[in-house]
Amino acid sequence: MELKEENFRKIADDLPFGLYIVEPDRTIVYWNKEAEQITGYKREEMVGKHCPQSGLFHMDEEGRSLCQFFCPLLATVESGEKSKARVTFLHKNGYRILIDTYFVPLKDENGETKHVAEIFEVVGPVEADSRLVENLHEIAFHDSLTELPNRLYMESILKVRFYEYHKLFRPFAVMFMDIDHFHDFNIKYGHVAGDMMLKSFADSIKENVRHEDVIGRWGGEEFVGVCPVPYEKDAVPIANRLRDVVNQAYIIKDGNKLSVTVSIGVTFVREEDTLKSIVDRADRLLFKAKQAGRDRIMIDADVPLVGKIERADIR
Ligand code: GH3
Ligand code: MG
Ligand code: MG
Repeated sequence: MELKEENFRKIADDLPFGLYIVEPDRTIVYWNKEAEQITGYKREEMVGKHCPQSGLFHMDEEGRSLCQFFCPLLATVESGEKSKARVTFLHKNGYRILIDTYFVPLKDENGETKHVAEIFEVVGPVEADSRLVENLHEIAFHDSLTELPNRLYMESILKVRFYEYHKLFRPFAVMFMDIDHFHDFNIKYGHVAGDMMLKSFADSIKENVRHEDVIGRWGGEEFVGVCPVPYEKDAVPIANRLRDVVNQAYIIKDGNKLSVTVSIGVTFVREEDTLKSIVDRADRLLFKAKQAGRDRIMIDADVPLVGKIERADIR
C-alpha cells in the first residue's frame, strides 16, 4: 500500500502528540497543531527558528539547560539512533511543563540523517519546588550587575559552538573586549559610577547583537562575544558595530555625560583550537589593540580591513 504525502501530512497535523521537525543545525521546519496547543506557540512563530533561540529553553529534570550542555536533537543527528528523554520546556505564558519526548532520525536513502522529528506528550506542570531549580539556573549563569551571561555560561556556549563547528561545519568568531582605562574611570568618578557605566555598556550591547551572537561578562570590565559567521571577515562589521555602540553609551553624573571606549581582539576558529586556545588568541589580539593605542579592533593578520581596525600576526 502506498500513502500519498498529503495523507502523511494530515496525520502529522492531527496527531494527538506534539510533533516538530528540525534540520541537523536545529532549524525548525515543521510544527504540528498539538505542538501549538502544548507550547502556546503558533506554527508561524516557530518554523524557521533555530531551536536554542525558540524560547522553549529545554532543560532536564535537574534544571540543566539542554541547549548548552547536552542537546538530544544534536545527539540524534550524530548517532542516527532513536532516543527518548523526560525534559521540561518553557510555555509561551512563562511556566514550565514536563514532557516525555521521543527523538526520531529521518534518514535519506544513503542512511544519512537529514531531519530529526521530536514527538512529545505532556506529563504535567513542573512542581513549585522545581521553580527553585530554574531560578538557581538563572543565578548560576547570569552576572547580577549587568544581567549578561556570565563566564560559566560563555564557556558552555563555546563548547556547543565547537561541537557545531566539528560536526556541522558551522564556524564562529570569538571577540575579547576590555574597557579602556577603566581603573582611571573608577578613580575619577567613583566605583558606583563605574558600575553604572558597566550596566549601560551591557544594556547597549544587548540591544545591538544578532540573536545568534552571545556576549557575556568574562570578569571585571572584560566581555567575550561568540558569533557564528561563515568567514572571519564577517566578524569585522559585528566588532565595528559593538565598538560604535559602546562609544555611544553614556551615563550622566553631576550633569555631565560620561562614556568609555573599548578595545577588541577578534579571531576565528581553527581546526586545532580548544576553548582555551581560541580565547587566549582573542586576548592576545586585544593586548595588541591596547598597545596600538586602545579604542580599536585588532584582528588576525590575513583579514581585509574595514573601519578602525588593525591586524596583527600572532600565530
Ligand atoms: P586598560 O585600558 O589597559 O584595560 O586599563 P584598565 O584601567 O581598564 O585596566 P586594569 O585591568 O588595570 O583595570 C581594570 C579596572 O576595572 C579595575 C577596576 O577598577 C575596574 N573594575 C573591574 N570590575 C569592576 C566592577 O565590577 N565595577 C567597577 N566599578 N569597576 C570595575
Ligand atoms: Mg582588564
Ligand atoms: Mg580595561
